[in-house]
Amino acid sequence: MTKKPKAHNNPIYVTQPSLPELQEFIPYLQKIWDNKILTNNGPFHQQLEKELAQFLGVPFISLFANGTLALVTALQVLRITGEVITTPYSFVATTHSLWWNNIKPVFVDIEPEFGNLDPEKIEAAITPKTTAILPVHVYGNPCKVDKMKEIADIYGLKVIYDAAHCFGVKHKGVGICNYGDLSILSFHATKVFNTMEGGAIICHDEATKKRIDYLKNFGFAGETTIMAPGINSKMNEIQAALGLVQLNHYDENIKKRKDIASTYRKELTNIKGISMLPEPTETDSNYAYFPIFINEKEFGISRDQLYEKLKQHKIFARRYFYPLISEFSMYKTLDSSNPSNLPTAIKLAEQVICLPIYPDLSKSNTSKITDLITNNA
Ligand SMILES: *Cc1c(COP(=O)(O)O)cnc(C)c1O
Repeated sequence: MTKKPKAHNNPIYVTQPSLPELQEFIPYLQKIWDNKILTNNGPFHQQLEKELAQFLGVPFISLFANGTLALVTALQVLRITGEVITTPYSFVATTHSLWWNNIKPVFVDIEPEFGNLDPEKIEAAITPKTTAILPVHVYGNPCKVDKMKEIADIYGLKVIYDAAHCFGVKHKGVGICNYGDLSILSFHATKVFNTMEGGAIICHDEATKKRIDYLKNFGFAGETTIMAPGINSKMNEIQAALGLVQLNHYDENIKKRKDIASTYRKELTNIKGISMLPEPTETDSNYAYFPIFINEKEFGISRDQLYEKLKQHKIFARRYFYPLISEFSMYKTLDSSNPSNLPTAIKLAEQVICLPIYPDLSKSNTSKITDLITNNA
């Protein structure tokens, strides 16, 4: 079969999953077919846990079927109950993980610089029922981790980071998932490192890893012992094998993402009405997302008008994160969802648009996008 030439007006989505050449993956499939081990901590699963721990510079990692089940389980591992302080400016799964554990989410506003949970506002939201903080390193930019820890230590709270955007990110030379009591990752198709669906919990000690592994396997702590009503959220061998192959291409993919991010930054700097997040200091970034923020008065058209204009040219940017989680019907009646509590989150949600960024986004398509944005007459 001959390869089809690339059409010039193919739709461009906010992301396109990275996949290795099929040829590179087939020997792994052959092994699975030969040994008939499909799941339950098989050889590829064990190998991926080992390689990822090394790659991410973390002590212990447990693989999951997806990031959402990793979040749900992380809360159970630490026996989190009552109220948890979290951000409304995230993907809805962050808060859903609390709902699935019968925990009340308490939304706290974000800081304007990076859009992460604002540590300055956390203390005012702590009550006798608060047991943990669930921040998100949104767009892959590190939260104020030292400040989070300081507050958690004073009040005796756990910190669980939703690090779904953060694969491979380092902060002050340290893998970002080393911060907090636990961190969770997502390997969903749309993330910088994918196993089609997948996720992980990172923890600091072997005893905790054991409990995590029990909980993702129905709670089995031995042949006849069930330690809790665990779920089934194990990663299977095909997912784990794909992860091993994907890891070989991670660095080259991040380099390509970095080039695209630099182009966007260069072309969109000094455009009236457009602002971007600063580049975080002391951080090795993964360039997972490229959000820009539209000030309608200065830019001339609204964020939604720009979004529609790009759509007309088959460029499907996304408004991450709009609407805020606190605006969804199941959460909007919470006291903490009151808009007066969340002014910065509301502002960012109204202005944000995430531009397409993925390793195979061509230079010509990147220019097409920046031209459309800057020629806004
Ligand atoms: C993707 C994502 C998740 C959920 O991960 P899945 O693997 O899709 O279940 C959770 N939180 C955030 C912030 C995400 O972006």
